[in-house]
Amino acid sequence: AKYVYFFGEGKAEGRGDMKNLLGGKGANLADMTSIGLPVPPGFTLTTEVCTEFYKNNRQYPSELKGQVEEALAQVESLMNKKFGDAQNPLLVSVRSGARASMPGMMDTVLNLGLNDDTIQGVIAQSGDKRFAYDSYRRFIQMYANVVMGMKGELLEDILEEMKEEKGVHEDTELSAEDLKKLVALFKDKVKETLGRDFPNDPHEQLWGAIGAVFGSWMNQRAITYRKLNNIPAEWGTAVNVQSMVFGNMGDDCATGVAFTRNPSTGEHVFYGEFLVNAQGEDVVAGTRTPQPIKKSQGDGTLPSMEEVMPESYAQLMKIQQTLETHYQDMQDIEFTIEKGKLYMLQTRNGKRTAGAAVKIAVDMVQEGLIDEKIAVLRVEPTQLDQLLHPSLDPKAPRTVVAKGLPASPGAVNGEVVFSADDAEEAARIGLKVILVRIETSPEDIHGMHAAQGILTARGGMTSHAAVVARGMGKCCVAGCGDIKIDYAKQQFTTRDGKVFKKGDVITLDGATGEVMQGAVPTVTPQLTGDFARLMKWVDKFRRLRVRTNADTPQDSKVAREFGAEGIGLCRTEHMFFDAERIMAVREMILADDVDGRRKALAKILPMQKGDFKGIFREMKGLPVTIRLLDPPLHEFLPQKDEEIEEISQVMGVHAATLKAKVESLHEFNPMLGHRGCRLGITYPEIYDMQVQAIMEAACELIKEEGFEIVPEIMIPLVGHVKELEIMRANAVRVADEVIERYGVAVTYLIGTMIELPRAALTADEVATQADFFSFGTNDLTQTTFGLSRDDAGKFLPFYVEKDILPNDPFVTLDQKGVGELVRMGCEKGRSARPDIKLGICGEHGGDPQSVTFCHDIGLDYVSCSPYRVPVARLAAAHAAL
Ligand code: ADP
Ligand code: MG
Ligand code: MG
Repeated sequence: AKYVYFFGEGKAEGRGDMKNLLGGKGANLADMTSIGLPVPPGFTLTTEVCTEFYKNNRQYPSELKGQVEEALAQVESLMNKKFGDAQNPLLVSVRSGARASMPGMMDTVLNLGLNDDTIQGVIAQSGDKRFAYDSYRRFIQMYANVVMGMKGELLEDILEEMKEEKGVHEDTELSAEDLKKLVALFKDKVKETLGRDFPNDPHEQLWGAIGAVFGSWMNQRAITYRKLNNIPAEWGTAVNVQSMVFGNMGDDCATGVAFTRNPSTGEHVFYGEFLVNAQGEDVVAGTRTPQPIKKSQGDGTLPSMEEVMPESYAQLMKIQQTLETHYQDMQDIEFTIEKGKLYMLQTRNGKRTAGAAVKIAVDMVQEGLIDEKIAVLRVEPTQLDQLLHPSLDPKAPRTVVAKGLPASPGAVNGEVVFSADDAEEAARIGLKVILVRIETSPEDIHGMHAAQGILTARGGMTSHAAVVARGMGKCCVAGCGDIKIDYAKQQFTTRDGKVFKKGDVITLDGATGEVMQGAVPTVTPQLTGDFARLMKWVDKFRRLRVRTNADTPQDSKVAREFGAEGIGLCRTEHMFFDAERIMAVREMILADDVDGRRKALAKILPMQKGDFKGIFREMKGLPVTIRLLDPPLHEFLPQKDEEIEEISQVMGVHAATLKAKVESLHEFNPMLGHRGCRLGITYPEIYDMQVQAIMEAACELIKEEGFEIVPEIMIPLVGHVKELEIMRANAVRVADEVIERYGVAVTYLIGTMIELPRAALTADEVATQADFFSFGTNDLTQTTFGLSRDDAGKFLPFYVEKDILPNDPFVTLDQKGVGELVRMGCEKGRSARPDIKLGICGEHGGDPQSVTFCHDIGLDYVSCSPYRVPVARLAAAHAAL
């Protein structure tokens, strides 16, 4: 088999569409080479090598060695250098690259091939001893850390000591002799720490580095990242071996990273940073403050590339244009300039915030680069959530204590913590925290995940913190030089001397970079402009309707603004908790007979009617499904002795009577107890009152205001067709009585929730009594798995962690089990009643993966919470495209 793909000088064996095999980086290096961009030659070891490696007990396929040697020889002949040669040595980088970009997850080794012989060749060829030793010491640092597994600080400390000794601040100020000494010190330290020599043989170095990249696919960091991002371990990573170009050969050299558009706002301006006389990830690591590429983007303190390297700048501008046109997407690029010559080292579709994703997609349609379909597909439904998050209330007072770079938008507040572990710990007990670090590294990922927002003192817009935060959709303020962090004291100090200790609350505004004292209030977002435009296209492509779960006129209004096309679930029990009516509800529950209950229900009737009128008004012209009372009655009674005492006085009922009632209503398993239609069967007057309220509300609005309403009355927790048959007959009787009394024509529907396995299994029978089904997948998940959601916290997270379940079945529908019941319910339902309306109203209605499933099995609509409506609309469009 072919395991190695060569690229160089305009020719490449690989192609851009071979990401699965070559990884993202390798495929794009091949692609950039083919379209004639300046890419240093090299070759890619495929992801298949990685999979074979793990399949065969960490052994490479036997053909690999020969193929690598052959490709290396090709590179040597193009570069006119020889790997391991003492006169004219070829140096290479060894870079990982999986299918999906995993920023910071796997480490690159640069300058590989250096040893005490080849260094002489590098000195001779470059005529620059300082550069040669700078490369050598960097190589030892990286190799010792990444390949040999030595702690990075051990060598970093020696470097710092040397700088201190010499009285300099920057690495660039060390002399050739200093660096040469450093190389020797580094090697000694390696030997001392690891008990073995730093490898001198370039081939041993090469295979060591290749092995480290494949090995890193299974390190904890990579595993965590894959888990968080749903990347399967089977994908594997590729390895790229590429001839080195040097950004650290002097002041006509540089290295940099850039985005073809602003990844934070989406604005169509090239954005990038670079460093003169630097190598590799110096820009990202935040060790030196990077310089702007464009003059207009600096603050004037540091010169821009536009000014100091105008030719390379012009070339870069042209290349970035070429890349955007070629990939038809915003690119995140890495480049190096060696002696005034520009080389491209990487390009990939840039990570961006949701706001940027929307703006870029809409702009690119206008620019004629992509069509509306592609634009819709460019925005991830899960990401959209970010846009619906609140932003700071512009009218709220605030005390800005520091300002950094607006690295990733959002407005959040929380208690300050200084380590990823503390952030995780705090989040576990439900605290909101802001992770404050000098800079972040891959070890901090779990803490970044747990925090509301991230604040760093160092690093630019392309720093680790900024890139990862944007990927996570987390608010981040980076490079905030206004604060001084003291990890030992667990505090940071602002420029004007304000001290913030661990636990103090701050607010971050990721859109402005401002850091504020305390918690600043927020407001909900306006969804206009580009967002509205994109959503228009979304609605054009989707088949699935999207409704909302809303219990109040206020929720209904929000949902309608978010584009809800009706209410799929209006729960009536919440309406009973209002201080005014809870007394009447309790009276009803305490009543000894039907008459007593009717009397109490008569008090509730006008209030319920008012509720429904309010909701119908907000949803004018759209369908509204109202679920009749579902929870067991004891939920409305006080449980604690003091409360019982208090309420008995207010109600004028003996405490003992009240207590006896509470006890008589006690259930061992309320979830499976006297609830749903079981209440309706035993206390029909409750449902009668609710149906009356719904129908009177509808009749009055139709009669008085000329509304168009089709109320949908939903009977919960049906397991047997007979239950529904009885409930339906009752509802029809009451509804028709109301219609007759008002003398208006109203169409209404009566349907049921499918939330018990038996209902799904006998859906053909149930459908004879139902105009619609709404799959209540929350309860259906509980009853199918036989687990209670309220008790699952003790074991469900463990199940997910151990891969027993792929994810939380209450978040993402379990398609194999619960989903199969839904599918069966649809088929059987339609077989008995072809025009039956089918929807889903569990939390799953707002989960993109579940929405796709709902589309595939042919539901008519999903219903989700108001804030998820745009997410569901977009997911429905993706499912249809
Ligand atoms: P990551 O996946 O973390 O971005 P890369 O493989 O892109 O890691 O390497 C990081 C950096 O190392 C690159 O951005 C580039 O600056 C530098 N680099 C990698 N290969 C070379 C090379 N052949 N010549 C010069 N610099 C290189
Ligand atoms: Mg890296
Ligand atoms: Mg890179």
